[in-house]
Amino acid sequence: MKRLEVNREKLSPMMQQYMEIKDKYEDSILFFRLGDFYEMFFDDAITASRILELTLTGKQAGLEEKVPMCGIPHHAYITYIDKLIEKGYKVAICEQLEDPKVTKGMVKREVVQVITKGTRIDSNIDSKANNYIANIYDFSYCYGISYADISTGEINAMLVEGEKDHLTKEIIKNGFKEVIVNDTINREIIENLRSKYNILVTITKEESNDKNYEYIYKEIEDIRLVKTLKHLLQYIIDTKKGDLHHLQKCKIIKSSEYLEFDINTKKNLELTETIRNRERQYSLFWLLDKNKTAMGSRYLKKSIENPLTNKIEIERRYDLVTKLSTEFILREDLIKSLEKIYDLERLTGRITYGNLNAKDLLQLKSSLSVLPKVKEILLQLKYDKKIETYNELYSILDKTILEDAPFSLHEGHLIKPGYNKELDELKKISSGSKDFILEMEKLEKEKTGIKTLKVGFNKVFGYYIEISKGQTHLIKEEYGYERKQTLANCERFSTPILKEKENIILGAEEKIINLEYKLFMEIREIVKRYTQSLQKTAKIISEIDMLQSFSVVSDTYKFTRPTLTNEKIIKMTECRHPVIEQVMKDKYVTNDIIMDKTTDILLITGPNMAGKSTYMRQCAITVIMAQIGCFVPCKSCTIPIFDKIFTRIGASDDLVSGESTFMIEMKEANYAISEATENSLILFDELGRGTATYDGMSLAQAILEYIHDKIKAKTMFSTHYHELTSLEKDLKHLKNVHVSAIEENNRLIFLHKVKSGAIDKSYGIHVASLAHLPKSLIKRAEEILSIYEKKNVKKETYTQTSLFELTESEIEPKINPIEEKIKQINPLEMTPMEALNFLYELKKEVKEKK
Ligand code: ADP
Ligand code: MG
Repeated sequence: MKRLEVNREKLSPMMQQYMEIKDKYEDSILFFRLGDFYEMFFDDAITASRILELTLTGKQAGLEEKVPMCGIPHHAYITYIDKLIEKGYKVAICEQLEDPKVTKGMVKREVVQVITKGTRIDSNIDSKANNYIANIYDFSYCYGISYADISTGEINAMLVEGEKDHLTKEIIKNGFKEVIVNDTINREIIENLRSKYNILVTITKEESNDKNYEYIYKEIEDIRLVKTLKHLLQYIIDTKKGDLHHLQKCKIIKSSEYLEFDINTKKNLELTETIRNRERQYSLFWLLDKNKTAMGSRYLKKSIENPLTNKIEIERRYDLVTKLSTEFILREDLIKSLEKIYDLERLTGRITYGNLNAKDLLQLKSSLSVLPKVKEILLQLKYDKKIETYNELYSILDKTILEDAPFSLHEGHLIKPGYNKELDELKKISSGSKDFILEMEKLEKEKTGIKTLKVGFNKVFGYYIEISKGQTHLIKEEYGYERKQTLANCERFSTPILKEKENIILGAEEKIINLEYKLFMEIREIVKRYTQSLQKTAKIISEIDMLQSFSVVSDTYKFTRPTLTNEKIIKMTECRHPVIEQVMKDKYVTNDIIMDKTTDILLITGPNMAGKSTYMRQCAITVIMAQIGCFVPCKSCTIPIFDKIFTRIGASDDLVSGESTFMIEMKEANYAISEATENSLILFDELGRGTATYDGMSLAQAILEYIHDKIKAKTMFSTHYHELTSLEKDLKHLKNVHVSAIEENNRLIFLHKVKSGAIDKSYGIHVASLAHLPKSLIKRAEEILSIYEKKNVKKETYTQTSLFELTESEIEPKINPIEEKIKQINPLEMTPMEALNFLYELKKEVKEKK
């Protein structure tokens, strides 16, 4: 049965209400609250019953056929929502806004929020990672991106110039779960995000002009950023609906302030998850995360994804890490305090928006209780930011919220005695009456002489006097007992006095519950006023937690403080791969990575399995660690600040499938070559391996020459084409190194030690034998090799006058006058009219050329 085709007039009133609400939430599964259940109807019911493995039933709704229906208990909805959201659905939660018990006619219902992948804030989301929703606004010559974590209130915005590949890279790198776009955006991008990366994409048109949230973008001058922010906000307002004042002022992200690298680099270096099983364990994040708070962990993850480029800021972090390591007693005190601090960021989120409960306020209280101590420690550490201590807020919470308050706000037992007179009075009445009941039991026993007489309470019948069947004949009329309920072995009675007391007790209890709820909400309003300040404090706590974590790992794993230099040199002595080292312990062989002013390229040769890839990875990881302000896994380390890192790690280490491998490899190489500057770090691991030998070798050489002559970026280039090692003669800034291995009794022993110079043998057959290929096969391979070697088909690389040498015109594309023009303008300084005129002129020029 199709929902849109049914005859609505025939429907029952409740079903008509359902239809009206569902019309507004076509793209969501509607959870329609009916008493203790959320019910789904029509297609929603069919979809949800399939995904959630629920029984599909039918509801009589006035039509000939029953309407498909399924339901879930309302208190367990989170687990069900998890599954639906993971599958890319949105869920609209429709609640009863009135109490059915006291409402005549239809209960009012309304959608209170829509839960989606990128907007969820419940307790099931990962506490160590941000959950971002983003807007992408296509300006046809660039993209505006804004993104928010609704649980913490963080909002950022940036511009991305260039190709759509750039945009996709940025989206993937930041791990957006959900993206909303304007409808002019390229369809290919949307499809790509949906199918390849499982991102929920929604097309929207509306932008927010809500004055309440203007503060988020008010100080931003770039209208493009404002545009994307307004779109993002409207979507958040539409889905979340409640008070969103925990959303913070937008921070503008400028790519030059961060070390840039793309998703492949993040993946290849296993920064936040491993390649093999995509788990956090054994990633760099896992190794460095000794944070005590979830906020600290999230900040660390963000820092690893966005290392800094500002020397002063990096050095500031080094100084604090040093200080924490020398003052280790203070550090211990700090750690102990941090352990008591809960997720302040998400707590403040819940205070403004969401299901705040008394436990949350108790967590807030616990967090506040250690802040004076933290403040004192930070003062002693000469930490340069001040935190507040919130004595007043603490004392309010301390005076009000009961230590053992329940999760629910509708059962009472929230507020401490002594805070509110009316509440205390009511509680006195309620408990006084309870005493009265005990007293009454005693008196009635005496009066009737029935020893087993009991005064009790149940929810349906209220207070009663219970007398066992065998004793009922002892009841005299003058007692005024009225029969209330008959059970198998006893009778229950009431009396006028008992009824009167019952009314007082139940009346008081209901009043208590309502009053406690009201007081709790008042306290919440008070706490709300601290939102912005608490968010500031949360930021400081995140940073100091991350720094103490750096200090702890640096001590534990013997990391060293790097020296940042303005010269273009890399000097890492006894460098290790920090994660592999922890797995291998003392079996790990340390290596120096030295590239002086005159060396830009290290050409790395060595047998398979020798440690080439590891050697390259450890260099990049050291750079990243240095630029997030952590110490590094070296004995000593002097490096410049890099602007970008590019990696192309060998195809076989990749999950990408066969055929397209080479193409992907070349695309990556092109990306690196077109984006790298002389301040970048490039890692090319066995580039060209995916194609025929001569093709691959020629390409590899051409790329090396290009980097050498044109880019001059620090580059590590591993290869199994040892012919390339002769390039050292002609390329002044290229140096050969090799990872050594020795042959012993016809077996290959890997030393994992990097030495200068080249090696001339690939030992491929030896490695094959390690893989237990059949002995006869290995032997045959050795025979064939020796034939080749006898023929001495020595391959030389061609340099200088080589076939591969590129003429200047091939390397440098001809200057395009239109491109030149575009380079000269600054769109930020143009008025819209000027921009339009400029565009018009360009268009004319292009036309004339044709
Ligand atoms: P290649 O890239 O040369 O084929 P890898 O870098 O992939 O080699 O290293 C192969 C294996 O050798 C790694 O999985 C690791 O176990 C080991 N290895 C690499 N470098 C070292 C080292 N410096 N010390 C000890 N073991 C290492
Ligand atoms: Mg390798």
